[in-house]
Formats: sequence, C-alpha cells, structure tokens
Amino acid sequence: MTSTIGFIGLGNMGGPMAINLVKAGHRVLGFDLSETALATLVEAGGEQAAGVAELAAEADVIVTMLPAGKHVRQIYMGEGGILENAKAGTLMIDSSTIDVDSARAVSDAAGAKGMKMVDAPVSGGVAGAAGGTLTFMVGGSDEAYEAARPYLDIMGKTIVHAGGAGTGQAAKICNNMILGISMIAVSEAFVLAERLGLDKQKLFDISSTASGQCWSLTSYCPVPGPLPSSPANRDYQPGFAAEMMLKDLKLAQEAAQSSGAATPLGAEAAALYALFCNTGGVGQDFSGIVKFLRGSS
Ligand code: NAD
Repeated sequence: MTSTIGFIGLGNMGGPMAINLVKAGHRVLGFDLSETALATLVEAGGEQAAGVAELAAEADVIVTMLPAGKHVRQIYMGEGGILENAKAGTLMIDSSTIDVDSARAVSDAAGAKGMKMVDAPVSGGVAGAAGGTLTFMVGGSDEAYEAARPYLDIMGKTIVHAGGAGTGQAAKICNNMILGISMIAVSEAFVLAERLGLDKQKLFDISSTASGQCWSLTSYCPVPGPLPSSPANRDYQPGFAAEMMLKDLKLAQEAAQSSGAATPLGAEAAALYALFCNTGGVGQDFSGIVKFLRGSS
C-alpha cells in the first residue's frame, strides 16, 4: 500500500532515509530549513512541502529526524506544529536521538490527540541510513509499533521493540554509555601496557580471549595494528565521531539525573569526552580518546 509520508529533517541521516521511502514507492513530502536538503529529496522523486502545517495536514505517516529534543518538542508541540495540524489516527515516528523526557512528553501529547507515536532512534550512521540497514530501537505501544514496522523495515535491517514510550531512547543511551565507558577502559589498558613495555598485540591476543574481552577491544580496537578494520588504522577518521559520543553521554547523564540513577562512570566518561572534544577530538572517531589519555591528542 502506498502511503503519503511527511519527512521532517532531511540532513545527513534523514535525507537518505527519506529517499529509501521514495524508492520503496511511497509518496514522500519533505520539509527542512535547508534548501539544499530539500532539493536532494526532490531530485530523488520526493516532493517539497510548503511547511510543517501543510505537511502534517496531508500525511498518513510522519517521520522526524532532527538534531535534539528542543527541535522535536517545537516541531510537534509548538504553534503551527504537527499535533495542531495532523489528521486523527496519523502515525508518528521520531527517529532523532533526544532526551527521554522530551520523547515521553511528545508521545503523551500525541496520544492525547488520538495519534499513534513511537520513538525510534537509530544506530548505524550515515552508511546505514543510505543502505537501509539501520538498527531501530523502538519505544511505544504494541499497536504503534506494529503500525510503524513496515516503514522501519524499509529504512533499517534490525528493528527491536524496547517497550513503552521513551524506551527506544533509553535503549540507545544505555547502550552508548556502555560503549563510551568500555572504550575508555580499553584505551587506558593500552596506554598502561605501553608504559609497562607490554606489546599491544600481546595485550590484544590475551585480553580478547580473557575476561577483559569486549566490543571496544575486539571489534573496534583503539590502537592501530591488532584489528585492521578499526578506525585507529586510518588516523581515527570516523566511524562514530567523538562529538556524537559526547552527545549521547550527556543525554545519559540528563536521564540519570532526572531518574535518580547512580552512573558515576558515565559521568566521568562524559567529562573525558568533553575534554577530548575541546582538545582536537571533534571530527575524529571516538576511539581517538586513546590519544587524549596518552597525552598526545
Ligand atoms: P543533521 O544536522 O545532518 O540533520 C538535521 C536536519 O534537521 C538538518 O538538515 C536541519 O536543517 C534540519 N532541521 C533542524 N531544525 C529544523 C526545523 N525546525 N525544521 C525543519 N528542519 C530542521 O543531523 P543528522 O546527522 O542527520 O542527525 C539527525 C539525528 O540523528 C540526531 O538526533 C543525531 O543524534 C541522530 N543520529 C545521527 C547519526 C549520524 O551518524 N549522523 C547516527 C545516529 C543517530
């Protein structure tokens, strides 16, 4: 069945995601503040909406891929926004990475208007967006999840229903907090090994089959050599940029504060990534934190 899909936020991620919906045969109405982003969608067979209100009034499904919670709140709940203008029963999918509180506030407001909504942040980066191979972590009712699934299947490969509203965002920031902390742990171990005269390949061989094994070591090793595919071997070109890791660690800290969870290592990881970003880390892969810890970034 062909749907009219309104897509707001046609940036690095949203642009290619919207184009995959066009390729699947849907009518896609796009809106973005950037003329260039809109032109790219139109060239690929999409249409340019006059504004958020016009897009919302026409669409059966609305997807948003915006920078942060304040943009999402504004586009959905602000004057002339989606909730004021959408038809009853419209399905809404917010794939932006935002704070859990904003995700839940927007979902509650949508529910109060009789609309179905999921928060569905992604991992997989720009390559995953272009290839339609993203992982979606989805929060929302069973009904909203089932309604969203056919569209998520077009844009992604792995779709996981995490629970009720906000749990997609919760899954994303909890996972990335593990990743940020474990990358620092692995990096500190390599720096210590260097000082102690332990060869990095030996540490890799031993720890990758011992209790220090983790994804940051065996799938994304932060020093060049042991794992040829890791960004360390291409001068830390991302990959997953340090500033994106910092964004997710800050969101985890906001959520920890508002929920009362103790996350002292998450707080330390956020502080270290902020220092790394302030000392040349912006634009580098997040595994480049090893250079900062070594004192060489
Ligand atoms: P981006 O900055 O490239 O795109 C955001 C787009 O939103 C821009 O085109 C901007 O013009 C548009 N926009 C901002 N405010 C708007 C408004 N009021 N109305 C209409 N358009 C507006 O960012 P991105 O890299 O595409 O990331 C989008 C989201 O996806 C972020 O929440 C990010 O954290 C998340 N994310 C990004 C990646 C990645 O690798 N880039 C990976 C996973 C998740």
